[in-house]
Amino acid sequence: MARIVMKFGGTSVADLDRIRNVAARVKREVDRGHQVAVVVSAMSGVTNTLVKWCTDLSPMHDAREYDAVVATGEQVTSGLLAICLQEAGIDARSWQGWQIPLCTDTAHGKARIGSIEGAELIRRMQTGQVAVVAGFQGIAPDNRITTLGRGGSDTSAVALAAALKADRCDIYTDVDGIYTTDPRIVPRARKLARITYEEMLELASVGAKVLQTRSVELAMNEGVRVRVLSSFTEAPPDAAPGAPPGAPPDAPLDDDTGTLVVDEDEIVEKQNVTGIAYSRDEAKITVRRVPDRPGIAATIFGALAEQNANVDMIVQNISADGTTDMTFTVGKADLPRARAALAGIKRQINYAELIEDPDVAKISVVGVGMRSHAGVANTMFSALADKAINIQVISTSEIKVSVLIAAEYTELAVRALHSAYGLDA
Ligand code: ASP
Ligand code: MG
Repeated sequence: MARIVMKFGGTSVADLDRIRNVAARVKREVDRGHQVAVVVSAMSGVTNTLVKWCTDLSPMHDAREYDAVVATGEQVTSGLLAICLQEAGIDARSWQGWQIPLCTDTAHGKARIGSIEGAELIRRMQTGQVAVVAGFQGIAPDNRITTLGRGGSDTSAVALAAALKADRCDIYTDVDGIYTTDPRIVPRARKLARITYEEMLELASVGAKVLQTRSVELAMNEGVRVRVLSSFTEAPPDAAPGAPPGAPPDAPLDDDTGTLVVDEDEIVEKQNVTGIAYSRDEAKITVRRVPDRPGIAATIFGALAEQNANVDMIVQNISADGTTDMTFTVGKADLPRARAALAGIKRQINYAELIEDPDVAKISVVGVGMRSHAGVANTMFSALADKAINIQVISTSEIKVSVLIAAEYTELAVRALHSAYGLDA
């Protein structure tokens, strides 16, 4: 018998039939004798509608009232799933963030979880009651409802799994796991049976948008075993019509369903490159001919930080004539603010011109094995050279090599790299 948290995303609870499908999956785990807590998202599209209503009424709306509105999507699905489970003869009860309570700070719209009171839920789960928890929401110290940021119910689920000391946290979504790259670009992408938290973090933050980044950080820090799997593939065996009564044998945790996100020690065969990610969310800026003297970088990036423009890759060359070029990337959405920040320091550092290029893509190869293997970056550079793709900027971390290229070559680059690292199925 295990204690598990099951989380279902918006597409998995998009209508009543899908909620019934979710109930069948929950029932299967209950029938196996497991203690179950379920975390639900809002029905797909609902949160977008709620957000739009707030913005349409007032672009500068009060963040506390925004949270009061957008948290309702999850309230609806938690109640509906509890009804559905009860209809199937399962003892179930819905829980809003404030009822648990799931305590957060006061950063409305992107609140961080402080603590979760798990004792009452555990007590009820031990009696066989299923806790159906509204994801995405919590309560601030002043008793106001908060939400955790878009995609936040992943974080609710992982935090709940940690608080309940669950054996695992199953994240049901509309893809059946984490792939070596985006299967829409590379049809021969393979599903990974396991991936480390660190690799998942790198892949999540560079564009593989399956899990909210914060949920992965939390899982890593708390040691929560996370499994990503689809709620759409194969109906639960004991829910099939005419299935014999009695619980089916439990699937082992390490079966090939979905992808398990785990600690590095749990992966025996470490790949040099586990996956390839891409992102078209960044823009390149070059500040031409800045003086090459102490304090220039501090001035430029200080001004950008003050404007809250998030900088990612940076390159600076050595100077031949006392001036140099500084090239870096910012999120596309931050481009106007970056431009304003740089205009503000024009007099101070007296650069020649600013060049902007939004048509760039960042391609990253990720793998914990590259810590102990040489030549990973060179394989990347050669594969891109073979396709005559120019590399504009390079950055590396312990387990990642990223390059910036022209956006039009994104697909070509991802395909070439997928083959070059032997990842094709
Ligand atoms: N419903 C929220 C959103 O759409 C939270 C979530 O689904 O994770 O962002
Ligand atoms: Mg999501």
